[in-house]
Amino acid sequence: MNEITTLEFDKEVLESGKVVLDFYSSECPPCEALAPKFEGLSKLYGNDIKFLKIFRQHNRELADKLGVKSSPTLLFFDNGQEVAERLTGGVKRSEIIAHLDSMIPDEKIKSIKSLIKPTVTEFDVIILGAGPGGLTAGLYLCQAKINTVMVDIALPGGHVSTTHEVSNYPGFIEPQAGYMLSHNMSEQTKLCGTVYKVAVDVTKVDLDKKEIVIDEFETLKAKRIIIATGTSPNLMGAPGEKELKGKGISYCATCDAKYFVDKEVVVIGGGNSAVEESDFITRFASKITMIHQFDKLTANKQAQEKLLANTKVNVLYEHEPRSFFKDGDHIITEIENLKTKERKKLTSDGVFVFIGFKANISLFKDKLELDQWGYIKTDQDMRTNVPGVFAVGDVISKKYRQITTAVADGTIAAIAIAKELD
Ligand SMILES: Cc1cc2nc3c(=O)[nH]c(=O)nc-3n(C[C@H](O)[C@H](O)[C@H](O)COP(=O)(O)OP(=O)(O)OC[C@H]3O[C@@H](n4cnc5c(N)ncnc54)[C@H](O)[C@@H]3O)c2cc1C
Repeated sequence: MNEITTLEFDKEVLESGKVVLDFYSSECPPCEALAPKFEGLSKLYGNDIKFLKIFRQHNRELADKLGVKSSPTLLFFDNGQEVAERLTGGVKRSEIIAHLDSMIPDEKIKSIKSLIKPTVTEFDVIILGAGPGGLTAGLYLCQAKINTVMVDIALPGGHVSTTHEVSNYPGFIEPQAGYMLSHNMSEQTKLCGTVYKVAVDVTKVDLDKKEIVIDEFETLKAKRIIIATGTSPNLMGAPGEKELKGKGISYCATCDAKYFVDKEVVVIGGGNSAVEESDFITRFASKITMIHQFDKLTANKQAQEKLLANTKVNVLYEHEPRSFFKDGDHIITEIENLKTKERKKLTSDGVFVFIGFKANISLFKDKLELDQWGYIKTDQDMRTNVPGVFAVGDVISKKYRQITTAVADGTIAAIAIAKELD
């Protein structure tokens, strides 16, 4: 694996055979997460594909010319032509492998795969999920000198990293951008010394043995596991929703509202998330039609009043979506009046869905005692029914799901574990 500059780009990339080029930056957590995966894969694929890195900040002109807008970005070339889709953000090892495999013959792939050696690493504690709950547990454990690994299928931060503003996290007078708050939490825990394995595939979890497998070859073993995997947004299950997910139907205003400048959107929901996120969407969209199943919004009063005072917003109460389909660039939402059963079609440029969440427990639900809504039951020290397995944050059975409550759970679990391991 070599580092190049703009001067070498033509010779090393355009006039070479198969090349993967990593545009990286300094002070870039996703670049740090990618670096060991890139280096590891260069050892496996390096005889067939050239692995190159280029420092984006020192080669800005080239990055601009190639349309590289964020770090890291991986570009794949074959004989001077760019092949395969670019990878950016929290790049997973499995995504890079899929791209590399598409560039070489099947026999080569087989022989490369036979070289992959399983590894086993032992820790005191594995934390699954690097949202506020997991990050806080990691911080406390690290400060107690307990050897801890933080594992996440995405980049660290959890929901906070995509929340546009947080105004109720103590210690800040002004509202904080969610991504900054989560970045600070993550850096604090990482700088303490917690090992990070992020943007990985968690392929197996054995709660009894306290073992997990990531990226199919790396086994992590520990004395304790903390589950801090949070929640994912509920889907409505209406026809057309799955097909249009990410293609006009979104579950994240912070991620996607910016694409709706002066456009009309439909928002499904009426609780806190729907109201707060709609308020954010009003910065961009020209019109918002909210579809809510009840006769009044269920969000907190202050947020409701602010949203309803905005002339861009119109709420259709006692309505539910029945189906979604595309008409050219528009999304058609078919809605039903729950009282009259009358149906009508709304045309918009996009749809946002905010109708609650479900616990992320699919990898371990069979072993754990859950409440009737599928959240993990814990005792007051955050112990689950499986000895040595703790759970914290939004994934557990509790009344109030906030950053402060997740952080509190993480603190309690870490202190309880530190006492047990002492
Ligand atoms: C739109 C929105 C706005 C919000 N605004 C506020 C607010 O203003 N103030 C406030 O206090 N709270 C707010 N909340 C709630 C707050 O974000 C959550 O309570 C908090 O993030 C919960 O933290 P957590 O660590 O339990 O889970 P999460 O933040 O959900 O993090 C869970 C992490 O686990 C990872 N993960 C999932 N599955 C796996 C797996 N199998 N293996 C490994 N990792 C996995 C995820 O990638 C994620 O990083 C908001 C939530 C939303 C959705």
